[in-house]
Amino acid sequence: MIKLHDKYFKPFLSEDQIHAAVKKLADAIARDYKDEVPIFVGVLNGAFMFVSDFLKAYDYPCEVSFVKLSSYRGLTSTGIVETLLDVPDNIEGRSVIILEDIIDTGRTVKELVHLFSNTHAKEFKIASLFYKSSVYKGEYPVDYFGIEIPDKFIVGYGLDYNELGRNLRAVYQLNQKPMINLVLFGKPGAGKGTQAQFLKDRYNLKHISTGDVFRYNIKNGTMLGKKAQEYMDHGDLVPDELTIKMLQDEVEKNPEAGGFIFDGFPRTTAQAEALDNFLESKGMEINATIALEASDDVLVERLLERGKQSGRPDDQNGDKIRNRFEEYNQKTAPLRRYYTKQEKFHSVDGIGSIEEITERLGLVIDTL
Ligand code: AMP
Repeated sequence: MIKLHDKYFKPFLSEDQIHAAVKKLADAIARDYKDEVPIFVGVLNGAFMFVSDFLKAYDYPCEVSFVKLSSYRGLTSTGIVETLLDVPDNIEGRSVIILEDIIDTGRTVKELVHLFSNTHAKEFKIASLFYKSSVYKGEYPVDYFGIEIPDKFIVGYGLDYNELGRNLRAVYQLNQKPMINLVLFGKPGAGKGTQAQFLKDRYNLKHISTGDVFRYNIKNGTMLGKKAQEYMDHGDLVPDELTIKMLQDEVEKNPEAGGFIFDGFPRTTAQAEALDNFLESKGMEINATIALEASDDVLVERLLERGKQSGRPDDQNGDKIRNRFEEYNQKTAPLRRYYTKQEKFHSVDGIGSIEEITERLGLVIDTL
């Protein structure tokens, strides 16, 4: 996910996909024009990167020129097409092939057809790298295109959002809904994992439970699992260095996520600081930290009950449970202050039915 001005964009087309499309276009046009010297006319600004790569993929004699038109202001086409750099003057009797970065409604195409209508070119063709066929309303049939795309606002590879994003090598699409990133906070047994299951579906979020990731690694005998096991078995926290790295990997594995629920992370101030820095480097942030509150007596009872069913070693022994509470009180509880300072801390009563608690959490999330 990347941020440009106020909006978030997620990966859409990779560099490889784009280059394959450019090559396909260059090959198709070469088949038709390799025996003459066509003039390629790039449409500025958006097409500059496409024109450059296209020419490198086109192995036959050709000339290149540019026109400059403009119709986008912000996210939607305004319909106003201005001519800022006019038609080249040496095109009489020549084959002209327009190189456009993207064709959507067809307003720019109409203007281009109009611009070249009196130039006495021998032939006039339009090639577009991206083509939104579902919204194209123009009469002119597009001659060549690289990739058909759905009606999404895209940036990168020359295309911009209010002038930012042109230098990106890949293409990104607008992430319509703003991301929601939540930290579920609370002592072991507070119901973080249970509630995360409901919240992730309701808000389309990716749930990352550091405890679950550790347990998965232990079960599969990975290096990370081997390093974490001893700490976990005693109810101690796994060292920050290991945990932070693992968390970052989990976030990076999910570039398409509409947001994350962090469950069991951060558990120390160092982890909270690392999380803030890491998210900031990705143009993301924590929107809220929600604590599920319950008394120790209730929690111990819940954990022992859970331990009977799951067989989790750290849930079956009173001493280990007390040690986890101790770890929480010493290392995790200070995070209340950390997130209160950022005005992100919310408390929710964690006693009641699962549905009641989900509703309470929903009330907080819906105000974000
Ligand atoms: P949980 O499933 O969240 O109760 O976590 C179980 C155990 O995994 C903890 O007692 C720790 O040993 C380890 N663990 C989970 N999350 C973290 C974390 N953020 N930092 C350090 N250790 C963790």
